[in-house]
Amino acid sequence: VKEKGKSNVQIYTSSMNNTSLERFNLENDIRRAIENGEFVLYYQPQINTDNNEIVGVEALIRWNDPIKGLVSPSHFIPIAEESGMIIDIENWVIKSACEQNKAWQNEGLPKIPISVNLSTRHFLQPNIVEMVTQVLEETGLAPQFLNIEITESMSVDIDRAITTLQKLKKLGVQISIDDFGTGYSSLNYLKNFPIHKLKIDRSFVRDIKKNPNDAAIVSTIISMAHHLNLEVIAEGVESAEQLSYLNNNRCKIVQGYFFSPPVTAQQLQLKLLKNNFG
Ligand code: C2E
Ligand code: CA
Ligand code: CA
Ligand code: CA
Repeated sequence: VKEKGKSNVQIYTSSMNNTSLERFNLENDIRRAIENGEFVLYYQPQINTDNNEIVGVEALIRWNDPIKGLVSPSHFIPIAEESGMIIDIENWVIKSACEQNKAWQNEGLPKIPISVNLSTRHFLQPNIVEMVTQVLEETGLAPQFLNIEITESMSVDIDRAITTLQKLKKLGVQISIDDFGTGYSSLNYLKNFPIHKLKIDRSFVRDIKKNPNDAAIVSTIISMAHHLNLEVIAEGVESAEQLSYLNNNRCKIVQGYFFSPPVTAQQLQLKLLKNNFG
């Protein structure tokens, strides 16, 4: 019972129940947010714990709603994915992240890859490789400084996914498997996908010190990654205990509150400056 109005804004009809009304409002709000440029990126550093240097950064979207303030992606990404608005949003994310990284490089800051999250829906768009190529051209960022994070939910069309990944690899961008271990075809992915990095999901890292199964899973993922010549990053590292377990098991690149939450571009720039000058 949703109709499209002239301006592509959906018209409310009285037959909607409360949940669909909420959703309807949220969808319209997201559409407005795209038009008004209400999204911002935060940046979380990835640290090489051998020397505490920043070796990468992940761009994470927030919605700066004029009334609600900063809204977490978990509140709007799923609806943006279902409605297809995710494509406009992520095109903005990729462009902004590449622009920002190029700007940092122009400032003389250390050159590091920036990671963006790409939804499956977007990844499977026929023109995704052209889109990424165009963003790199427009922003002047060298391809090795863009890292695309995909998840394992892409069982839909494996052949298509492989072809796209091969094209992206040829273009020179890096590919990470995000939330590794939480999907249902992890090993199949490793076997068939041309990728560079694995990110161990936070849910495994969280109880590493309490749950021997989690500890075993994490150390196994790390050693498997090494055998496959993949870089491995642990997500959600919050404590020194977690870090020491990871280090003892030869995972040295980590991302988590222990080092830094996601921060603004300005704050990340200060951290990168310190990278340069100790
Ligand atoms: P993700 O890609 O797994 O990103 C990591 C999330 O874990 C981030 O949440 C980050 O703030 C949080 N995090 C990092 N370190 C720690 C830690 O030590 N402890 C805890 N408890 N959490 C930590 P955030 O920023 O709320 O993002 C949530 C999810 O939203 C992301 O999970 C990602 O799946 C999605 N997301 C964010 N930006 C985009 C985007 O541009 N496109 C798509 N498709 N998804 C996005
Ligand atoms: Ca991610
Ligand atoms: Ca993740
Ligand atoms: Ca996650």
